[in-house]
Formats: sequence, structure tokens, C-alpha cells
Amino acid sequence: MLLPRLPDPVPPAQHEITASYIGRLARIHGLDVSILWRCVTEREASGGMRRVIVPERLAAITGRTVHALAGALPELRTPQPDWAMFRHQPQPGCRHCDARHPGGEVIRILPHHRYVCTRHRLWLSPSDADGQTTPLDGLPEIVQAQRRHLRILRRHGWAVTYDAVLTAMLICGQLWSLSEDENGEARHDWVHRASILIPPDTTESAFSVARLCAVVYPEAVALAPLFASPFWRQQAQKATWDRRLFNAEIARRLRHPNYNHKDHDNDPISHWANMNAKRPPLAPIRVHDQKHHLHKPALSPATQLAQQRRARAFDPSRRAGEALVAHRYFATVFRRAWDPTRKHRLLPNGNSYYSL
Ligand SMILES: [Zn+2]
Repeated sequence: MLLPRLPDPVPPAQHEITASYIGRLARIHGLDVSILWRCVTEREASGGMRRVIVPERLAAITGRTVHALAGALPELRTPQPDWAMFRHQPQPGCRHCDARHPGGEVIRILPHHRYVCTRHRLWLSPSDADGQTTPLDGLPEIVQAQRRHLRILRRHGWAVTYDAVLTAMLICGQLWSLSEDENGEARHDWVHRASILIPPDTTESAFSVARLCAVVYPEAVALAPLFASPFWRQQAQKATWDRRLFNAEIARRLRHPNYNHKDHDNDPISHWANMNAKRPPLAPIRVHDQKHHLHKPALSPATQLAQQRRARAFDPSRRAGEALVAHRYFATVFRRAWDPTRKHRLLPNGNSYYSL
């Protein structure tokens, strides 16, 4: 099929899903999106009803090489990327960055390590079902944490980093739920940040688990290198009386001078050291499925009610972490403690990680 080149073939955005890019091209040119979609797709080889992109056709109508398009559009890559390294649901990105891309909403499939647009100081992920993003004015430590997060990624790779940061966020949520004398200086910062991101007089409208994640993100990223590093994991596996070095490092990073090992599972860090420091990193429970690209996440009525209940009960000075800990975003790490029978899967580099 010979396809004419579009007059204004704007480039795709980084990590944009192909359906989003084709939708924007159609709107820019006043074309029916379903017609343009049929032009650049064909029935899948298995004979099913689903249509799949033909990269050469998209290249023909945009005048861009397949290689250049695949640099931005993960679905066009050959071989296909390891989808486990991306969040399972496509989502809107930073609205200021997206303003450079004409043609309407830009939907991206972001890698697990992308939480903040550092340029525009906007919290992106995990996004709530309504896709809202959160300005981080007055909270430079959250923006800085994204940069530190990328350094962990460069050092340890995506699978270890994913597990370490998610584990650390869950642990911070659990610490936030402990009584005041058990969670150190960080608690004051969590209460302060929560009062900015979820002002007390607007709790019902401003409350979201995504914002609670932003609140604990700096301490999570401070703790995560310990959970990622082979050296610190070994220190954590020592007998409880011999963990002075590990405990001192936790205390320093949490700004919790009195932090000490507690020989019970009520302390989430001790629990991790006792149970999980020896285990390979976890794989995400949900992995992106291209067949469901165009389904926007939506809150079920039951989830909406639960969300409203949590908003009404939210009080950052008390056990604010409970809403965070119970959120499905943490299901991967939350289930680990209660399921010792998982199988593990091999990574291309020969390391393994758990697959539920
Ligand atoms: Zn931006």
C-alpha cells in the first residue's frame, strides 16, 4: 500500500503509546482517527480481530524512519522491550512537557523509575485513576529524590531498583503508622509535606494515595540504596545482635538517632532484614498488555467510596500511612511477606527475580 506523507508529521513524544500518537496525527490533520488507524495497521498474523501497527506504514506517512519512531514509541521496538520494566497502565505525563506536542492528550507508558518531571517540578506517578498530576512547589527535596532515584537505577538496574524503591515506600508508610516515638524525624517532614499537598481544609478533594507516595518519596529514595546494595543486604542478613552497622545506617538515613533493631516483626525494617534481604527482587504483579492500551483506568464505585472514606479519615499527624500501605500500587511488595511459596524467573543477565 502506497501511503502519502502527512503535511505536518509532528514527532512522537518519548514513551508515547502508538495509539496516542496516531490519534494526535489524526486530530492535527482533521482526519477520522479510525481511518488513519486502519491505514497504518493490519490484522494480527494469528488471524484474530485485533489490528497491529505496521511500522513501515507509520514511517511512510510521517517521513520518519522506523528506527527514529521506535526510539520514542516502545511498542515499535524490535525485539519488544521487557514490559515488566514499565508501569502496566499508560498514563498522561507532565502537562507542561506535553504542551510542546500538538494534537491533544499525550498518553505514555512510563518506566517504573519515572515519578517526577524534574524540569517542571510535577509529581507524575503513580497517578490516580483520574490522571491528576501534582505540583511540587516548595518541596524541592521530592524533585531531588527523583535525581537520586536515577542514580540508583544506573548503579543497580531496573529490577533491583524497582523492588528497592517500592519496598522503601511501603516501609515508610508502615513507619508513618507507628506511634510517634518510633519513627524519628522523618515523621515531622511527612506531616509537613502532607499539609502542603493535602491541605487540611481541602482533604476530601485533594486526598490521594499518589500524594502520600510523594510525601514519603525522599526518605524512600534515601533508604532504597540499602535495599538494593549487595553489601547492605549482607549486613542486614547478619544475626540480629550483629547488625550494628546496618542499624546505624538506617538511623542516619531516617534521621532517627534512636533507631535500633527491634526483635519483632512490628518494625518493618527488621521484618525486611529477617525475611527478605536474602531474596531476589520481586517482579511486578501486573505487566503491561498492549491489547488493553486504549482502556483508560477508571475507579469502580466501590473504590470511589473507599477513597472517600480514607479521605475523611485522613489525619497526617496520626496513622496516615495506612491508606498508603493498603493501596494496590504496593501489592507486589506487600504480598511478599505473606507468601513464601513464590517461583522466580530468570532475567537475561542470569540473575533471578520473583514472579507471583
Ligand atoms: Zn515537564
